[in-house]
Amino acid sequence: MITMKTMITKKGVVIHPEEITKTWEKAILGSDINILGIHPVGGEHSHEKVKALADNGFPNEKDLIIKNLVSKGVSIEYELHAMSLLLPRELFASQPRYFRMNEKGERTPDYNCCASNKDALEIISDSASDLALKLPYSSDIYNFWLDDVFDASCKCGECSRLTSSDQALVIYNAVLRGLKRVNKNAKQSYLAYCGASDPPANIEPEEGIFLEYAPFKRDFFKPLISGDNTLSAARARNAIAFFGGRGAKALDYWLDNSLYSGWKKPPLEFHINADIVMRDIEFYESLGFESVTSFACYLGEDYERLFGAPVLDGYIKKK
Ligand SMILES: [Zn+2]
Repeated sequence: MITMKTMITKKGVVIHPEEITKTWEKAILGSDINILGIHPVGGEHSHEKVKALADNGFPNEKDLIIKNLVSKGVSIEYELHAMSLLLPRELFASQPRYFRMNEKGERTPDYNCCASNKDALEIISDSASDLALKLPYSSDIYNFWLDDVFDASCKCGECSRLTSSDQALVIYNAVLRGLKRVNKNAKQSYLAYCGASDPPANIEPEEGIFLEYAPFKRDFFKPLISGDNTLSAARARNAIAFFGGRGAKALDYWLDNSLYSGWKKPPLEFHINADIVMRDIEFYESLGFESVTSFACYLGEDYERLFGAPVLDGYIKKK
């Protein structure tokens, strides 16, 4: 049997807020899971779900579950595509220069922003402060991400000197500055994902930025160390070489039944591949990641009604 080293000190599951159940509460409290990631679903409308959560909190029954988890030491970490909240699209009418220039040379409010516009970045900082204050039970770890598109960077003259990853880091630095105004211990992730998977080339992370690596383009049915995942493994190595291991978090897909169900309800029956999980965690640990998390969506009440409580041994280890 392979003995796990102790470098990975945090382990989590990332679920949709409406999927918080008593079953999850029990599974988390009886196990080595110490992070619950909250990831509102909704594609282009996910920011509306985030806003509703920020304004209203969790419904009572789910609120009690979260409260109990927090009291037992579980860290609540919001994992959000939040750009539409951080820089409201309505501003486009009066301030088109806050927004990105597309390949045709036109300003558009479709995704993200212009990373060279200081006023836009200031609004992003302010909005990050507001959001951090409103999200209930948040730990010091924040993951306010760019929009969920492969690559929607700004092509304006100033931004053209920056890679997509540079632009992402400029924005995450601005988010972090806002977070620190309301929480001096705040940490903000750099989400190495899709078009921002490679390390930035011209921008440095400010103190409090940590790496969050999400290998969405990996082969989910082969371990990262296999030849089929060379690029995803190399990106993990490069990312950690740039950002360092402090606070570094892998956000993988081992339990992501939304992905395995094709993001379509009803959910399909989920079967974990424990061998891949074990080998991937060893890989992340060998690189110096401190934290591993996995999406674990589509395993809520509707899943249980169809298939019973999900079997997640192989990732979740009972105490
Ligand atoms: Zn720009």
